[in-house]
Amino acid sequence: PLHLAERMQRLGTETAFEVLVRARALEAKGRDVVHLEIGEPDFDTPGNVIDAAVGALRGGFTHYGPSAGLPKLREAIANDVGRFRNIQVSPDEVVVVPGGKPIIFYCMLALANEGDEVIYPNPGFPIYESMINFSGARAVPIPLREERQFRLDVNELASLITPRTRVIILNSPANPTGGVLDEQDIHDIISVIGDRNIMVLSDEIYSRLIFEGQHFSPLSIPEFRERTILLDGFSKTYAMTGWRLGFGVMRPDLAAHIARLMTNSNSCTASFTQMAGVEALTGDQSSVTRMCEAFRERRDLMVDGLNRIKGFRCLRPKGAFYVFPNIQGTGWTSQKLANALLDEAGVACLSGTAFGSYGEGYIRFSVANSPENIQKALDRIEQWVNTHV
Ligand code: PLP
Repeated sequence: PLHLAERMQRLGTETAFEVLVRARALEAKGRDVVHLEIGEPDFDTPGNVIDAAVGALRGGFTHYGPSAGLPKLREAIANDVGRFRNIQVSPDEVVVVPGGKPIIFYCMLALANEGDEVIYPNPGFPIYESMINFSGARAVPIPLREERQFRLDVNELASLITPRTRVIILNSPANPTGGVLDEQDIHDIISVIGDRNIMVLSDEIYSRLIFEGQHFSPLSIPEFRERTILLDGFSKTYAMTGWRLGFGVMRPDLAAHIARLMTNSNSCTASFTQMAGVEALTGDQSSVTRMCEAFRERRDLMVDGLNRIKGFRCLRPKGAFYVFPNIQGTGWTSQKLANALLDEAGVACLSGTAFGSYGEGYIRFSVANSPENIQKALDRIEQWVNTHV
Protein backbone atom coordinates (compact mmCIF):
# COMPACT_ATOMS: atom_id res chain seq x y z
CA PRO A 1 0.00 0.00 0.00
CA LEU A 2 0.99 3.61 -0.53
CA HIS A 3 1.99 5.18 2.78
CA LEU A 4 0.83 8.70 2.16
CA ALA A 5 1.73 11.41 4.66
CA GLU A 6 -1.16 12.47 6.88
CA ARG A 7 -0.91 16.09 5.66
CA MET A 8 -2.03 15.04 2.19
CA GLN A 9 -5.52 14.48 3.59
CA ARG A 10 -5.67 18.16 4.45
CA LEU A 11 -4.89 19.24 0.92
CA GLY A 12 -7.85 20.57 -1.08
CA THR A 13 -8.14 21.28 -4.78
CA GLU A 14 -9.32 23.73 -7.40
CA THR A 15 -12.46 22.26 -8.95
CA ALA A 16 -12.14 24.32 -12.13
CA PHE A 17 -9.45 21.97 -13.39
CA GLU A 18 -11.64 18.92 -12.72
CA VAL A 19 -14.64 20.40 -14.49
CA LEU A 20 -12.40 21.26 -17.44
CA VAL A 21 -11.36 17.59 -17.64
CA ARG A 22 -15.02 16.49 -17.54
CA ALA A 23 -15.94 19.03 -20.21
CA ARG A 24 -13.08 17.87 -22.43
CA ALA A 25 -14.23 14.25 -22.02
CA LEU A 26 -17.70 15.24 -23.27
CA GLU A 27 -16.11 17.04 -26.21
CA ALA A 28 -14.08 13.95 -27.04
CA LYS A 29 -17.44 12.15 -27.39
CA GLY A 30 -18.52 14.76 -29.94
CA ARG A 31 -20.52 17.11 -27.67
CA ASP A 32 -20.23 20.87 -28.03
CA VAL A 33 -19.40 22.62 -24.75
CA VAL A 34 -19.16 26.35 -24.01
CA HIS A 35 -16.32 26.82 -21.54
CA LEU A 36 -17.26 29.24 -18.79
CA GLU A 37 -15.55 27.29 -16.03
CA ILE A 38 -11.88 28.18 -16.17
CA GLY A 39 -10.51 31.46 -14.80
CA GLU A 40 -8.16 32.59 -17.50
CA PRO A 41 -8.25 35.29 -20.15
CA ASP A 42 -9.12 33.89 -23.57
CA PHE A 43 -6.75 36.45 -25.11
CA ASP A 44 -3.23 35.56 -26.18
CA THR A 45 -0.21 37.01 -24.41
CA PRO A 46 0.70 40.36 -26.05
CA GLY A 47 3.22 40.01 -28.90
CA ASN A 48 5.82 42.34 -27.37
CA VAL A 49 5.97 40.07 -24.31
CA ILE A 50 6.43 36.95 -26.43
CA ASP A 51 9.17 38.69 -28.44
CA ALA A 52 10.93 39.64 -25.21
CA ALA A 53 10.86 36.01 -24.03
CA VAL A 54 12.26 34.76 -27.34
CA GLY A 55 14.96 37.46 -27.21
CA ALA A 56 15.81 36.47 -23.64
CA LEU A 57 16.11 32.79 -24.63
CA ARG A 58 18.45 33.73 -27.47
CA GLY A 59 20.27 36.13 -25.17
CA GLY A 60 21.23 33.46 -22.66
CA PHE A 61 18.59 33.87 -19.96
CA THR A 62 18.51 30.11 -19.65
CA HIS A 63 20.41 29.75 -16.38
CA TYR A 64 19.63 29.83 -12.67
CA GLY A 65 18.97 33.27 -11.29
CA PRO A 66 18.64 34.66 -7.76
CA SER A 67 15.91 32.98 -5.65
CA ALA A 68 14.12 36.27 -5.01
CA GLY A 69 14.03 37.12 -8.72
CA LEU A 70 16.17 38.97 -11.26
CA PRO A 71 17.08 42.45 -9.96
CA LYS A 72 15.76 44.01 -13.18
CA LEU A 73 12.32 42.48 -12.70
CA ARG A 74 12.19 43.22 -8.97
CA GLU A 75 12.92 46.83 -9.78
CA ALA A 76 10.30 46.96 -12.55
CA ILE A 77 7.73 45.43 -10.18
CA ALA A 78 8.62 47.85 -7.36
CA ASN A 79 8.15 50.78 -9.76
CA ASP A 80 4.91 49.46 -11.20
CA VAL A 81 3.31 48.50 -7.86
CA GLY A 82 4.37 51.86 -6.44
CA ARG A 83 3.09 53.91 -9.38
CA PHE A 84 -0.28 52.15 -9.46
CA ARG A 85 -0.85 52.63 -5.73
CA ASN A 86 0.86 55.99 -5.35
CA ILE A 87 3.48 54.77 -2.88
CA GLN A 88 7.23 54.14 -2.80
CA VAL A 89 8.20 50.48 -3.12
CA SER A 90 11.76 49.20 -2.87
CA PRO A 91 13.00 46.15 -4.85
CA ASP A 92 14.02 44.39 -1.64
CA GLU A 93 10.32 44.21 -0.73
CA VAL A 94 9.65 42.16 -3.88
CA VAL A 95 9.89 38.37 -4.31
CA VAL A 96 9.31 36.85 -7.74
CA VAL A 97 7.68 33.41 -7.77
CA PRO A 98 6.18 31.08 -10.41
CA GLY A 99 2.62 32.47 -10.44
CA GLY A 100 0.49 34.13 -7.79
CA LYS A 101 -0.40 30.84 -6.10
CA PRO A 102 3.03 30.12 -4.53
CA ILE A 103 2.78 33.33 -2.50
CA ILE A 104 -0.25 31.84 -0.73
CA PHE A 105 1.58 28.57 -0.08
CA TYR A 106 4.82 30.18 1.07
CA CYS A 107 3.10 32.73 3.30
CA MET A 108 1.17 30.01 5.09
CA LEU A 109 4.36 27.98 5.55
CA ALA A 110 6.27 31.03 6.75
CA LEU A 111 3.68 32.60 9.04
CA ALA A 112 1.26 30.01 10.44
CA ASN A 113 2.04 27.51 13.14
CA GLU A 114 -0.06 24.47 13.95
CA GLY A 115 -3.08 25.73 15.86
CA ASP A 116 -2.79 29.32 14.64
CA GLU A 117 -5.82 30.76 12.90
CA VAL A 118 -6.09 32.24 9.43
CA ILE A 119 -9.24 34.08 8.36
CA TYR A 120 -10.15 33.71 4.68
CA PRO A 121 -13.04 34.77 2.42
CA ASN A 122 -15.84 32.26 1.78
CA PRO A 123 -16.93 31.97 -0.98
CA GLY A 124 -13.36 32.54 -2.12
CA PHE A 125 -10.47 31.17 -4.13
CA PRO A 126 -10.37 27.52 -2.93
CA ILE A 127 -6.59 27.44 -2.63
CA TYR A 128 -6.72 29.68 0.47
CA GLU A 129 -8.55 27.11 2.57
CA SER A 130 -6.48 24.27 1.14
CA MET A 131 -3.14 25.91 1.89
CA ILE A 132 -4.18 27.03 5.38
CA ASN A 133 -5.23 23.48 6.24
CA PHE A 134 -2.08 22.04 4.69
CA SER A 135 0.09 24.32 6.82
CA GLY A 136 -1.60 22.92 9.94
CA ALA A 137 -3.27 26.20 10.88
CA ARG A 138 -7.02 26.45 11.44
CA ALA A 139 -8.99 27.87 8.52
CA VAL A 140 -11.60 30.37 9.75
CA PRO A 141 -14.06 31.43 7.05
CA ILE A 142 -15.45 34.96 6.88
CA PRO A 143 -18.74 34.79 4.96
CA LEU A 144 -19.20 37.11 1.99
CA ARG A 145 -22.85 37.90 1.38
CA GLU A 146 -24.78 39.08 -1.63
CA GLU A 147 -26.64 41.72 0.47
CA ARG A 148 -23.26 43.45 0.95
CA GLN A 149 -22.22 42.97 -2.69
CA PHE A 150 -19.96 40.20 -1.37
CA ARG A 151 -17.86 42.64 0.69
CA LEU A 152 -17.01 41.29 4.12
CA ASP A 153 -18.79 42.66 7.17
CA VAL A 154 -16.22 44.24 9.53
CA ASN A 155 -18.32 43.49 12.62
CA GLU A 156 -18.29 39.85 11.66
CA LEU A 157 -14.54 40.06 11.04
CA ALA A 158 -14.06 41.58 14.50
CA SER A 159 -15.94 38.66 16.06
CA LEU A 160 -13.68 36.13 14.32
CA ILE A 161 -10.35 37.64 15.43
CA THR A 162 -8.81 35.84 18.42
CA PRO A 163 -5.36 35.93 20.07
CA ARG A 164 -4.44 33.05 17.74
CA THR A 165 -5.26 34.92 14.51
CA ARG A 166 -2.05 35.32 12.53
CA VAL A 167 -3.17 36.15 9.02
CA ILE A 168 -6.28 37.60 7.37
CA ILE A 169 -6.64 36.99 3.64
CA LEU A 170 -8.36 39.64 1.53
CA ASN A 171 -9.12 39.37 -2.17
CA SER A 172 -10.30 42.39 -4.13
CA PRO A 173 -11.51 42.29 -6.86
CA ALA A 174 -12.63 38.84 -5.81
CA ASN A 175 -12.84 35.42 -7.30
CA PRO A 176 -15.58 34.07 -7.60
CA THR A 177 -17.90 36.98 -6.80
CA GLY A 178 -16.31 39.96 -8.57
CA GLY A 179 -16.83 41.89 -5.33
CA VAL A 180 -14.60 44.90 -4.74
CA LEU A 181 -13.54 46.35 -1.37
CA ASP A 182 -13.51 50.13 -1.55
CA GLU A 183 -11.16 52.48 0.29
CA GLN A 184 -13.54 52.82 3.23
CA ASP A 185 -13.86 49.02 3.53
CA ILE A 186 -10.08 48.66 3.70
CA HIS A 187 -9.81 51.40 6.33
CA ASP A 188 -12.57 49.75 8.37
CA ILE A 189 -10.81 46.39 8.19
CA ILE A 190 -7.48 47.92 9.24
CA SER A 191 -9.09 49.71 12.18
CA VAL A 192 -10.75 46.48 13.36
CA ILE A 193 -7.31 44.83 13.36
CA GLY A 194 -5.99 47.79 15.35
CA ASP A 195 -2.47 47.34 16.67
CA ARG A 196 -2.63 43.53 16.78
CA ASN A 197 0.29 41.74 15.19
CA ILE A 198 -1.79 40.23 12.37
CA MET A 199 -0.62 40.11 8.76
CA VAL A 200 -2.99 40.83 5.89
CA LEU A 201 -2.39 38.80 2.75
CA SER A 202 -3.97 41.01 0.12
CA ASP A 203 -4.58 39.07 -3.08
CA GLU A 204 -4.79 41.76 -5.75
CA ILE A 205 -4.30 39.57 -8.80
CA TYR A 206 -7.40 41.16 -10.44
CA SER A 207 -6.46 44.74 -9.49
CA ARG A 208 -6.16 45.87 -13.13
CA LEU A 209 -9.54 44.43 -14.03
CA ILE A 210 -11.80 46.93 -12.36
CA PHE A 211 -14.91 48.36 -14.00
CA GLU A 212 -16.14 50.94 -11.52
CA GLY A 213 -14.31 53.06 -9.00
CA GLN A 214 -10.64 52.70 -8.16
CA HIS A 215 -8.60 49.89 -6.77
CA PHE A 216 -7.43 50.42 -3.20
CA SER A 217 -4.78 48.40 -1.39
CA PRO A 218 -3.92 48.14 2.32
CA LEU A 219 -0.32 48.60 1.13
CA SER A 220 -1.23 52.27 0.66
CA ILE A 221 -1.89 52.75 4.38
CA PRO A 222 1.49 53.76 5.88
CA GLU A 223 0.86 52.43 9.40
CA PHE A 224 -0.21 49.08 7.95
CA ARG A 225 2.60 48.75 5.44
CA GLU A 226 4.65 46.32 7.56
CA ARG A 227 1.69 44.05 8.10
CA THR A 228 0.63 43.87 4.45
CA ILE A 229 1.65 41.22 1.96
CA LEU A 230 0.60 42.03 -1.58
CA LEU A 231 0.01 39.15 -3.97
CA ASP A 232 -0.09 39.99 -7.66
CA GLY A 233 1.19 38.58 -10.90
CA PHE A 234 1.08 38.50 -14.66
CA SER A 235 -1.48 35.71 -15.21
CA LYS A 236 -4.65 37.78 -15.41
CA THR A 237 -3.42 41.29 -16.29
CA TYR A 238 -1.28 40.22 -19.23
CA ALA A 239 -3.01 36.95 -20.18
CA MET A 240 0.04 34.96 -19.04
CA THR A 241 -1.50 32.09 -17.04
CA GLY A 242 0.73 29.44 -18.60
CA TRP A 243 3.95 31.36 -18.09
CA ARG A 244 3.83 30.99 -14.31
CA LEU A 245 4.99 34.40 -13.21
CA GLY A 246 3.83 36.20 -10.08
CA PHE A 247 5.17 38.09 -7.10
CA GLY A 248 4.71 39.21 -3.54
CA VAL A 249 5.48 42.60 -2.00
CA MET A 250 6.18 42.57 1.73
CA ARG A 251 8.56 43.79 4.43
CA PRO A 252 12.13 42.93 3.34
CA ASP A 253 12.83 40.54 6.23
CA LEU A 254 9.81 38.42 5.31
CA ALA A 255 10.73 38.67 1.61
CA ALA A 256 14.11 37.14 2.47
CA HIS A 257 12.40 34.23 4.22
CA ILE A 258 10.10 33.65 1.24
CA ALA A 259 13.23 33.64 -0.94
CA ARG A 260 14.63 30.89 1.33
CA LEU A 261 11.50 28.84 0.63
CA MET A 262 12.14 29.45 -3.09
CA THR A 263 15.74 28.26 -2.74
CA ASN A 264 14.44 25.06 -1.18
CA SER A 265 11.68 24.38 -3.69
CA ASN A 266 11.94 26.07 -7.11
CA SER A 267 15.48 27.49 -6.90
CA CYS A 268 14.23 30.42 -8.94
CA THR A 269 11.49 31.46 -11.35
CA ALA A 270 12.39 30.76 -15.01
CA SER A 271 14.85 33.46 -16.10
CA PHE A 272 13.58 34.18 -19.64
CA THR A 273 10.03 34.36 -18.29
CA GLN A 274 11.15 37.06 -15.88
CA MET A 275 12.65 39.06 -18.75
CA ALA A 276 9.28 38.83 -20.50
CA GLY A 277 7.77 40.17 -17.27
CA VAL A 278 10.02 43.24 -17.49
CA GLU A 279 8.65 43.92 -20.98
CA ALA A 280 5.05 43.33 -19.84
CA LEU A 281 5.43 46.00 -17.14
CA THR A 282 7.50 48.55 -19.02
CA GLY A 283 6.23 48.11 -22.59
CA ASP A 284 2.99 49.13 -24.29
CA GLN A 285 0.01 48.78 -21.91
CA SER A 286 -2.77 49.14 -24.48
CA SER A 287 -3.63 45.43 -24.37
CA VAL A 288 -4.46 45.71 -20.66
CA THR A 289 -6.99 48.46 -21.33
CA ARG A 290 -8.39 46.55 -24.29
CA MET A 291 -8.88 43.34 -22.32
CA CYS A 292 -10.49 45.19 -19.43
CA GLU A 293 -12.96 46.87 -21.79
CA ALA A 294 -13.78 43.53 -23.40
CA PHE A 295 -14.41 41.91 -20.01
CA ARG A 296 -16.72 44.76 -19.05
CA GLU A 297 -18.83 44.26 -22.18
CA ARG A 298 -19.00 40.52 -21.64
CA ARG A 299 -19.90 41.00 -18.00
CA ASP A 300 -22.83 43.18 -19.03
CA LEU A 301 -23.93 40.70 -21.67
CA MET A 302 -23.85 37.84 -19.16
CA VAL A 303 -25.45 39.73 -16.24
CA ASP A 304 -28.27 41.15 -18.37
CA GLY A 305 -28.86 37.77 -19.99
CA LEU A 306 -28.92 35.85 -16.71
CA ASN A 307 -31.30 38.33 -15.10
CA ARG A 308 -33.81 37.51 -17.84
CA ILE A 309 -33.69 33.79 -17.04
CA LYS A 310 -36.24 32.31 -14.62
CA GLY A 311 -34.76 31.55 -11.20
CA PHE A 312 -31.53 33.51 -11.75
CA ARG A 313 -30.64 36.79 -10.04
CA CYS A 314 -27.25 38.31 -10.76
CA LEU A 315 -25.39 41.28 -9.31
CA ARG A 316 -23.19 43.31 -11.66
CA PRO A 317 -19.65 42.68 -10.38
CA LYS A 318 -17.28 45.64 -10.20
CA GLY A 319 -14.13 43.73 -11.06
CA ALA A 320 -12.43 40.49 -12.22
CA PHE A 321 -13.99 38.38 -14.99
CA TYR A 322 -16.57 36.29 -13.18
CA VAL A 323 -20.28 36.57 -12.53
CA PHE A 324 -21.83 34.82 -9.54
CA PRO A 325 -25.60 34.56 -9.94
CA ASN A 326 -27.96 33.55 -7.17
CA ILE A 327 -29.74 30.44 -8.43
CA GLN A 328 -31.93 29.69 -5.41
CA GLY A 329 -35.00 30.60 -7.46
CA THR A 330 -34.42 27.58 -9.69
CA GLY A 331 -35.04 25.19 -6.80
CA TRP A 332 -31.81 23.37 -7.66
CA THR A 333 -28.74 23.07 -5.45
CA SER A 334 -25.53 24.57 -6.84
CA GLN A 335 -23.67 21.36 -7.53
CA LYS A 336 -26.66 19.64 -9.17
CA LEU A 337 -27.35 22.66 -11.34
CA ALA A 338 -23.69 23.02 -12.40
CA ASN A 339 -23.57 19.31 -13.30
CA ALA A 340 -26.85 19.47 -15.24
CA LEU A 341 -25.79 22.57 -17.16
CA LEU A 342 -22.64 20.80 -18.29
CA ASP A 343 -24.18 17.39 -19.00
CA GLU A 344 -27.51 18.47 -20.45
CA ALA A 345 -27.05 22.03 -21.72
CA GLY A 346 -23.39 21.93 -22.78
CA VAL A 347 -22.36 24.87 -20.59
CA ALA A 348 -19.39 24.33 -18.27
CA CYS A 349 -19.56 26.38 -15.06
CA LEU A 350 -18.66 25.90 -11.40
CA SER A 351 -20.83 25.26 -8.37
CA GLY A 352 -20.63 28.05 -5.81
CA THR A 353 -19.74 25.36 -3.28
CA ALA A 354 -16.43 24.85 -5.11
CA PHE A 355 -15.51 28.13 -3.38
CA GLY A 356 -16.65 27.14 0.10
CA SER A 357 -19.84 26.28 1.95
CA TYR A 358 -21.16 29.85 1.78
CA GLY A 359 -21.23 29.50 -2.01
CA GLU A 360 -24.36 27.30 -1.83
CA GLY A 361 -27.16 28.92 -3.82
CA TYR A 362 -24.78 30.36 -6.42
CA ILE A 363 -22.86 29.27 -9.49
CA ARG A 364 -19.84 30.89 -11.13
CA PHE A 365 -19.44 31.71 -14.79
CA SER A 366 -16.19 33.06 -16.15
CA VAL A 367 -16.83 35.69 -18.83
CA ALA A 368 -13.37 35.25 -20.31
CA ASN A 369 -14.92 33.93 -23.51
CA SER A 370 -16.16 35.54 -26.72
CA PRO A 371 -19.49 37.41 -26.77
CA GLU A 372 -20.73 34.85 -29.32
CA ASN A 373 -19.98 31.98 -26.96
CA ILE A 374 -21.47 33.83 -24.01
CA GLN A 375 -24.67 34.40 -26.01
CA LYS A 376 -24.69 30.74 -27.01
CA ALA A 377 -24.36 29.76 -23.33
CA LEU A 378 -27.20 32.10 -22.34
CA ASP A 379 -29.47 30.62 -25.02
CA ARG A 380 -28.67 27.10 -23.90
CA ILE A 381 -29.22 27.87 -20.22
CA GLU A 382 -32.53 29.57 -20.95
CA GLN A 383 -33.72 26.64 -23.01
CA TRP A 384 -32.69 24.15 -20.37
CA VAL A 385 -34.33 26.19 -17.59
CA ASN A 386 -37.59 26.37 -19.54
CA THR A 387 -37.95 22.61 -19.35
CA HIS A 388 -36.33 21.90 -15.94
CA VAL A 389 -37.29 24.75 -13.59
N1 PLP B 1 -5.60 34.40 -6.60
C1 PLP B 1 -6.82 34.36 -7.13
C2 PLP B 1 -7.94 35.03 -6.44
C3 PLP B 1 -7.05 33.67 -8.34
O1 PLP B 1 -8.29 33.61 -8.84
C4 PLP B 1 -5.96 33.03 -8.96
C5 PLP B 1 -6.15 32.25 -10.21
O2 PLP B 1 -7.20 31.80 -10.55
C6 PLP B 1 -4.71 33.10 -8.37
C7 PLP B 1 -4.55 33.79 -7.19
C8 PLP B 1 -3.51 32.36 -8.92
O3 PLP B 1 -2.98 32.91 -10.04
P1 PLP B 1 -1.71 32.26 -10.75
O4 PLP B 1 -2.23 31.53 -11.94
O5 PLP B 1 -0.85 33.41 -11.12
O6 PLP B 1 -1.04 31.35 -9.79
